[in-house]
Amino acid sequence: LTVGVVKESRSGERRVSLVPKLIERLTKRGLRIVVESGAGEGAYLADSVFEEAGAVIGDAWGADIVLKVAPPTADEVAKLKTGTLLIGFLNPRSDPDGITALEKAGVRAFAVEAIPRISRAQAMDALSSQSGVAGYRAVLLAAEKLPRFFPMLTTAAGTVPPAKVLVLGAGVAGLQALATAKRLGAQTTGYDVRPEVGEQVKSLGAKFLELGIEASGEGGYARELTEEERAEQQRRLTDAITKFDVVITTALVPGRKAPTLVTAEAVKGMPAGAVVVDLAGESGGNCELTKPGEDVVEYDVTITSPLNLPAEMPAHASELYARNVTELLELIVDKEGKLALDFSDEIVAGACVAGKGAE
Ligand code: NAD
Repeated sequence: LTVGVVKESRSGERRVSLVPKLIERLTKRGLRIVVESGAGEGAYLADSVFEEAGAVIGDAWGADIVLKVAPPTADEVAKLKTGTLLIGFLNPRSDPDGITALEKAGVRAFAVEAIPRISRAQAMDALSSQSGVAGYRAVLLAAEKLPRFFPMLTTAAGTVPPAKVLVLGAGVAGLQALATAKRLGAQTTGYDVRPEVGEQVKSLGAKFLELGIEASGEGGYARELTEEERAEQQRRLTDAITKFDVVITTALVPGRKAPTLVTAEAVKGMPAGAVVVDLAGESGGNCELTKPGEDVVEYDVTITSPLNLPAEMPAHASELYARNVTELLELIVDKEGKLALDFSDEIVAGACVAGKGAE
């Protein structure tokens, strides 16, 4: 079987789906790795480095298995041949038309977002690896935009108190944001509607904000709040937020628009120069004033909602993603290097979003 590593074409996408250090692991399985020239450029990986690791530079789109990071554009779908197995982020929930296009093209597609979040699949969990990168970068962005220090400083010119950072949504991205803000010396607080994450938040040296609204849903995710709960949450958060220099928001509910946690009124109450980093921009945003992909300044507060933050740290984001994808490949390719799809395995059945019935 050939595995193609293609060059990403979406604007700003600098990650690559496989890195040289994992190639030997795959070639040992009998897989032949074909890399499109320039595929690793954005992540500082030259063609020659892939070649030295055992890959060939060539027609990656014609491979039996094509590895991608970002969802394919229409032009990219047209490059895939019938019968190809595609692995990548495919947005199956928010872009069903994209999945239909792949079905029509006769492509069998595995969406990394659809891999069940079970312990056996942890090493393949690309949502987690990339969310971790986003959580880390969000804090650096906030630190850069904040006109104050993060750490407490005692200097001859006076003492500076630490920045107060609140992270809303303590899933994978939120917990990494809390850890990173703490390492930079900020005073940290985390909040989530799943009370079970309280212990994790505290283990990172942060306070856990209790607002008395609990909404654990299925599969470890949060459920959507009722209208009443939402109004109550916004009211209580509006009071709490005014005390913070930085608010980082990461709250998502699978398949729904992101909940509004930071109202315009809350922003108005924040100290001048404060920063909101909204990581939920792609799902509509957690702040009422968010414009996805833009910086907005209102009431002297900067609200920024970067899109695709993991692409801004392409070296490590690619390395972690490549490890996730390699684990998935090892599940669907047997020791002789042949495709062995076992649809009675919940990981294979869950991740396959197009072409399940194909031979
Ligand atoms: P996510 O990206 O779907 O959401 C981020 C956070 O926002 C979640 O913690 C959620 O509870 C919170 N949230 C949603 N609505 C909210 C609201 N109205 N107010 C405040 N917070 C709100 O979550 P995620 O980071 O993907 O993690 C989801 C779950 O999956 C977690 O329980 C995590 O531990 C679990 N997980 C399991 C595995 C595994 O076992 N393989 C891997 C990764 C994550």
